Amino acid sequence: NDRLASFDAALATAIAEETARQEAHIELIASENYASRWVMEAQGTQLTNKYAEGYPGKRYYGGCEFVDKVEALAIERACDLFSADYANVQPHSGAQANAAVFMALVSPGDTVLGMSLAHGGHLTHGAAPNFSGKHYNAVQYGLNPETGEIDYAEVERLAREHRPKMIIAGFSAYSRVVDWRRFRDIADEVGAYLMVDMAHVAGLVAADLYPSPLPHAHVVTTTTHKTLRGPRGGLILSASGDEALYKKLNGAVFPGQQGGPLMHVIAAKAVAFKEAMSQDFVRYQTQVIANAKAMAQVFVARGFDVVSGGTDDHLFLVSLIRQGVTGKDADAALGRAHITVNKNTVPNDPQSPFVTSGLRIGTPAVTTRGFNEDDCEQLAGWICDILDVLAEQGSTSAVEAEVREKVAELCGRYPVYGDAEQATAD
Ligand code: PLP
Repeated sequence: NDRLASFDAALATAIAEETARQEAHIELIASENYASRWVMEAQGTQLTNKYAEGYPGKRYYGGCEFVDKVEALAIERACDLFSADYANVQPHSGAQANAAVFMALVSPGDTVLGMSLAHGGHLTHGAAPNFSGKHYNAVQYGLNPETGEIDYAEVERLAREHRPKMIIAGFSAYSRVVDWRRFRDIADEVGAYLMVDMAHVAGLVAADLYPSPLPHAHVVTTTTHKTLRGPRGGLILSASGDEALYKKLNGAVFPGQQGGPLMHVIAAKAVAFKEAMSQDFVRYQTQVIANAKAMAQVFVARGFDVVSGGTDDHLFLVSLIRQGVTGKDADAALGRAHITVNKNTVPNDPQSPFVTSGLRIGTPAVTTRGFNEDDCEQLAGWICDILDVLAEQGSTSAVEAEVREKVAELCGRYPVYGDAEQATAD
């Protein structure tokens, strides 16, 4: 932006460098995506100036008549999109949405049961350094090391033993379909609330390509910026029909956890929900899954261990334990080839969470820029080429240079924001 550059060259340069990086590097971080120009346009408006503590029609500030319209639209669209009858669009982030649900449903010291970070859960599901692990008695479940799938029998056993007040289902790194009903049955048996954090698969759920947790959970939380492809932010939903619960959830977000809502971000969420209702969005999510499956198959064919053997969603985990390669080294080598992934712990990982023996690979971003299965298979092959050299303990600089050139050519063919009409609603 030339106007910003003339006022603040240092900042404008950093922004330009990041923009160039996003165009020139291949983004395989499963939680990232490229928001449409319409989302960014809504977010870059004067709505950022407005204080609107409270909820539509019940504000603590004057002048809210127009932002009320914005928030009402966002709520209505979120409810339509996910067949919910309650939506709170104000959480500033996924973590804050989760904190609000904890505040509404459980008290400090209560027992909660969530998936461990090392097995694919999120920090806010009871991890020790997070508020959820510090202020609550967090018990953690994980994957069956043989199958790489959620160990429901263990969830049931832990629930019976510890009698949690709330069970948390959902994940940051899991490639299979979660049995939401099974979780609800377990919660009902022990008298617990079921909270589902569908942050990673919200876009797939919106497109009806992954089972919705809404019919099963008391409360569902999500981020709006991953597969859902909106602005960075959080969202709380429910289809439980429990008005008293909705009141508690609203009170937990404001005034419980937050002050004024970010009205410009809420406007951008409303845009993203509208985009997610289109047939284009369903086609996009279908391709996200096809691309993830195509990539996972290449890894398997090239002799790598894919956790659980494949994927049903937008991501998969590659275990490098057998090759003796660390996630940290693999992540760094791929980064030098302009392919961005993240290191990730895998079942039975002998390495620390800072080193790990795995990679998490996701296709939401590359699919937004237009990659199809052929492109993704090629890309997976290049990643395997680099991992093979790492496994042989050879120097990766030659293969990194070769891949970097191919990445530049592929990125040049699929510019991220090359098409101003990228976000087409139909
Ligand atoms: N929940 C899940 C399952 C996530 O994967 C994440 C982010 O990675 C979050 C919540 C937190 O979202 P945020 O980074 O917006 O706080």
